[in-house]
Amino acid sequence: MTPLVSPSQTIPTANRQTPRAPVRAPDADKLRIGGFTRLTTIDFPGELAAVVFCQGCPWRCRYCHNADLLDARAAPRVQWSDIRGFLQHRIGLLDGVVFSGGEPTAQGALDAAMQEVRALGFKVGLHTSGAYPDRLRALLPLVDWVGLDIKALPDDYPAITGAPDSGRRAWESLDVLLTARVPLEVRTTLMPDWTPEQIATLAHALADAGVKNYCVQACDSSRALDETLTPSAMLMSERIGLVEKERFGRFVVRGD
Ligand code: SF4
Repeated sequence: MTPLVSPSQTIPTANRQTPRAPVRAPDADKLRIGGFTRLTTIDFPGELAAVVFCQGCPWRCRYCHNADLLDARAAPRVQWSDIRGFLQHRIGLLDGVVFSGGEPTAQGALDAAMQEVRALGFKVGLHTSGAYPDRLRALLPLVDWVGLDIKALPDDYPAITGAPDSGRRAWESLDVLLTARVPLEVRTTLMPDWTPEQIATLAHALADAGVKNYCVQACDSSRALDETLTPSAMLMSERIGLVEKERFGRFVVRGD
């Protein structure tokens, strides 16, 4: 996802409602934000949403294309107070707000920002890598939908993320979300060198865990953090050829 700071999408004025005085959770102003998209139809299924790109991530995935969002100490590009004001004037025009990143759950201020969003009447979506399962568990009462990246089987995580404990954390987060029955899409970016057998093994492990809504996408090596990554020589249809897609209620390929 490429963050767009102050893009110029036109938002319809029909159905506009009187701006509501925002509920202020003081800690929300501490949220460090690297970008903001005013309107998306694709990042929160079935909803018209804005996207808040949170600054900072503890991992360094080889295929990450959000390099400018990774450093938690980078100067914020957008202030939460500006987003608060924007949302106040979008009541009745937007359905929800998605917190993306970077890794949103890395920030303690996320809870307060979500509370403000809900108080304004918007739904809350969350894109996460699952790096902080305990924080994710605590946020569940505030979240309407989650897009969770499962990058690999647990033992294969460090080779992608560079973080030793990342696989356990991500799969624990998956368990948290499945147990809570939160509306969920699990996504995997396919490493270019993965074989069809590896891809099918991961997909079937997710089906065994209870994942019903699964999305795979090709790695865009042209924008990857690791410049040595090269595209897969195989067609996507070949790569996913061994996946038993009927084991999922919904199986989607993006970016083929
Ligand atoms: S989890 Fe990986 S892909 Fe996602 S923002 Fe962090 S480094 Fe990038």
